[in-house]
Amino acid sequence: MTTSAHASRDVFSRPAARFLAGGLDIRASALGQCRRALWYTATEQPVTNPPEPDSLTLLEAGNALEPVVVRAMRRSGWRVTPADRADPLSVSVEAAPGLTVTGHPDATGCPPVEGGAPAAVEQFLFGDDEPSAQTDDLVIEVKTRGPEAFKRWRTLGAERSHPESVAQAACYSLGLYGECRDVVIATLDTGARTWDHEIVPAERAERAWRNASRRVEALVEHHGLHGPDPDALPERDFTASDWQCQRCPYLNRCQPGGAGEAEDDAEPAEPVSDEQAREALREYEQVQGRIKSLEADKRGSLQTLQHWLQGKGVEKARLDGSTKTRTVGIVQSRRYSVDHTRLNALLEPEQRAEVVTEQVSEYLRVS
Ligand code: SF4
Repeated sequence: MTTSAHASRDVFSRPAARFLAGGLDIRASALGQCRRALWYTATEQPVTNPPEPDSLTLLEAGNALEPVVVRAMRRSGWRVTPADRADPLSVSVEAAPGLTVTGHPDATGCPPVEGGAPAAVEQFLFGDDEPSAQTDDLVIEVKTRGPEAFKRWRTLGAERSHPESVAQAACYSLGLYGECRDVVIATLDTGARTWDHEIVPAERAERAWRNASRRVEALVEHHGLHGPDPDALPERDFTASDWQCQRCPYLNRCQPGGAGEAEDDAEPAEPVSDEQAREALREYEQVQGRIKSLEADKRGSLQTLQHWLQGKGVEKARLDGSTKTRTVGIVQSRRYSVDHTRLNALLEPEQRAEVVTEQVSEYLRVS
């Protein structure tokens, strides 16, 4: 495996995949992308579904918030050296013969040492952007996620929720240090504006890298068989109902009518007119209003009963209701919390999958 690191200005605008003299080059942040989409990009096919302005705004907001995460880490005692945004360092790793993966690390650094926070805080306060290099620096991959994705990452761990980000960080570690060290995934919740981190041990990071690069190696074989033929398409990695396809810039080319097919999977239902929907919404609002007022009444009654019990100095008592005698009592509830950061560090992703399971439910929200 050969690696290189150099400064480059065009790194942010590079395509997700491109053919070079030596074979195929994949952008590190695109390691998890659909291989057919990568093929469309590498063969320079025109985009049929450009991103909506809102998606671009979201993307730009995420990028703009990355320095915020770096500053928050420093305030928490981390030693962090962020990438120079005007002249980012580009690393390139040869994943296999004919396959390179290239990208730019967000930052490097290391977690606070026990009792060592003041030095880092001082560095933040006095604006020293060039902390001295240390041999134990780790790659820090900075991500911004919406509340749901943040919760998912924290609960399941990066290797299960976003394995491509672990592979990406491992790639940078190989490129920068010539070895796969532990990697840090630092994530900002864009809703609550809080951040957290996960340190993925070197062995597991390397495994994520091997899995990701093995997956894209299939494109090198495909290239060997067909050359850069835009019509010799690799198999699809996703189906029309997957979010990857719904956001794919080649959706209409790959699956003409794809969005429609996804809708076809939905339960057939009686057509509802706009007027019927408005009527249903008005009924919903009225019922919500009644529920809120009933809930307020219920809270008031419960408070009176609680004061009555406290006045008697008991935790439980019997009292005649309108139809029967009821027991009124204080019930203790206990909550247990799991430190997912520690759990993720202790357990392999496969073990975590047995412990932390995921259920997806769907409901309609009116806001
Ligand atoms: S539409 Fe879906 S399957 Fe087709 S290239 Fe895009 S992500 Fe891949």
